[in-house]
Formats: sequence, C-alpha cells, structure tokens
Amino acid sequence: MATSKFEAVAQAKCPKCRRGKIFLGPVYSFKGQKMNEHCPNCGMKYEVEPGYFYAAMYVSYALNVAEIVTTAMLTYYLSGGSENPMLYIGTIFTVIFLLAPFNYRYSRVILLHWLSPKVKYNSEYDK
Ligand SMILES: [Zn+2]
Repeated sequence: MATSKFEAVAQAKCPKCRRGKIFLGPVYSFKGQKMNEHCPNCGMKYEVEPGYFYAAMYVSYALNVAEIVTTAMLTYYLSGGSENPMLYIGTIFTVIFLLAPFNYRYSRVILLHWLSPKVKYNSEYDK
C-alpha cells in the first residue's frame, strides 16, 4: 500500500520511499537528534549535496516566524489584550524554546519533501 505524502512528512520518513526513517530516535530527547546518513530502506543519501541542510535554516526561520506570530496573537486574546511587553517576550521565548527540536526536525523534512525538486517519490521503493 502506498504511503501518503502527508503521512511520510508527519512521521519524518524518507522522501523517496516514504518508509525509511530520516532521524534516529524521538524529537524530544536529551541526547539530541541524529540523522541517518542514508535511508535504511532505499539507501537514498539524505544530504543530497554538500551543505544541503543549510537551506533548512530558511525553512526553520519561516516556521519560527509563524510560531511567533501565532503565539503573540494567542497571548493577546487570552490575556484580554494585554499591553505588557514582558508577557509577550516571556511567552514567545518559552514557546520558541520548547519548539526548537520540532523546528530542527521538520525544517529538514519539509526541505526534503517539498523544496527539493530533484528528490522524487518512487513507488517502487514504497513496499
Ligand atoms: Zn528511502
């Protein structure tokens, strides 16, 4: 059965076969996150070219901006329109700190799945 793209992204699976795990271990761990160099299922090299994952910084930046704007708006509504800047700074820093491992992982997953035209899904490997 073919794996959907959404499922593969949500579970951080290989963009080519949608089966192999990109990362070893869970998102949240004190050991940090390690990536497989190659897909354990189809053998695809995740670092497509040297320095490939630098581009994930831009994705991470976009994720952070979206999270900051969402947090600021939620803080505004949930506090009844507070004008205390420390409240916003505190909530935003807390949320960004807690989501950092998530951003690290999903910026790379999004880069591999949606922003790399050379990386293609191949249903032959999705078995
Ligand atoms: Zn694979």
